[in-house]
Amino acid sequence: MNIVLLGAPGAGKGTQALRMEERYKLRHISTGDIFRQHMRRQTEVGNLARSYIKKGQLVPDDVTFKIVASALEEAGNENFLLDGFPRNTNQAAMLDGLVKIDKAINIDVDMSVLTDRICGRRSCIECGYTAHVSTLSDSVCPKCGCEMVQRMDDREDTVRDRLRVYEEQTAPLIEYYRARGVLVNVNGMGSPEEVFAEIGKVLG
Ligand code: AMP
Repeated sequence: MNIVLLGAPGAGKGTQALRMEERYKLRHISTGDIFRQHMRRQTEVGNLARSYIKKGQLVPDDVTFKIVASALEEAGNENFLLDGFPRNTNQAAMLDGLVKIDKAINIDVDMSVLTDRICGRRSCIECGYTAHVSTLSDSVCPKCGCEMVQRMDDREDTVRDRLRVYEEQTAPLIEYYRARGVLVNVNGMGSPEEVFAEIGKVLG
């Protein structure tokens, strides 16, 4: 089964994606993670992506689509889980031209909790593990021991722009996938375990 994970920034897509990858043996493709790897390596794509990411804007579709197409090619026949892609209807249409999407799981959260969730988020510079600052006793990653930092685009001024971009460009994908009969809504307001249990009801 090929899955698209939808939801606002801070809805918990990354957290759930890691669990789903393990449980359902899916190839996890996160465009945000791929861009961050490029930025760390200071590639051409990374330098271009940084100029958009730091402003909370979307990286242009042609650049984004190239990295997704190559990740899908690498996945070969493996079932995949797309996390953070598509982000607008143009990307969704491009994706439809390439592969069949079986389910779009929308993690539904109240917009009022998102700013705190994102601004309080700390991410491991090495393995990408994320946690809310209130649950960490220091800045050491509980998973791999590397440093946990705040992503540059998780600062409050950028978060406002990211949420606006989500409302304007990404939220319409809920209707896009509903119209195709593959949308499933999951309540994202519970703990990570509760949300994963909801996803389990959908995927079995
Ligand atoms: P994420 O880790 O999914 O929150 O993505 C971080 C940032 O990477 C986003 O705010 C965008 O600037 C960029 N990005 C990630 N996925 C996409 C995409 N599908 N299209 C355009 N930009 C993206």
